[in-house]
Amino acid sequence: MSTTHDEREIRVAVATSNMGKLAEIRAALDFEGWRFYTADELGLPWPEPEETGETFEENARIKATFAHEHFGMPALADDSGLEVDALDGEPGVRSSRYAGPCASDEENNRRLLLALQDVPDAERTARFRCTMVFVDESGCEIIATGTCEGRIGFEPKGEGGFGYDPLFLPDATPGRTMAELAMAEKNAIGHRGAALRALRAALEG
Ligand code: IMP
Repeated sequence: MSTTHDEREIRVAVATSNMGKLAEIRAALDFEGWRFYTADELGLPWPEPEETGETFEENARIKATFAHEHFGMPALADDSGLEVDALDGEPGVRSSRYAGPCASDEENNRRLLLALQDVPDAERTARFRCTMVFVDESGCEIIATGTCEGRIGFEPKGEGGFGYDPLFLPDATPGRTMAELAMAEKNAIGHRGAALRALRAALEG
């Protein structure tokens, strides 16, 4: 798909209600004429589909395809989470519900620390992974992925971000957790930023 010679407005539904993600998407995909909208902004209900996939790609596809059909316009969705090597890739697609269906970030972080209590520093390697699926007007898909390598610390540190950020020490920022990074720094080294840059490159074709 070309993003350069098209003078039409391209409206894209974003399958998220997270305004932080939306801001990141708008900044990363600032193509002439492209406009990104949440369901709220479109004034439409968003009966969020169940994320029944076993991979980030499956879940992102479920959300993007559903949004494409539901809103009748191009759609973009992402799915992301944390993979811990010592836990064979857990919590993975279950990152948001690791400690239970309605678990808070603190509860998920506590469960993760407990699961890793006997695991030494060298074996606490992990990565955040993000998959973006864009479905265009005619239903064609573009898939883009991004990762951020790091380790799981022994205690939460930092006030920024969300989810597992206080426990995640990116390789790119030694000694600092993701929750101790400024937003711009997190976007520059993070998994979602990487996936958005890959998607931008694919859209520019
Ligand atoms: P989502 O698919 O992006 O909504 O993320 C699912 C879950 O993965 C979140 O509830 C978090 O537990 C975790 N997660 C995803 N991205 C991040 C991140 O950037 N920092 C910390 N945790 C994240």
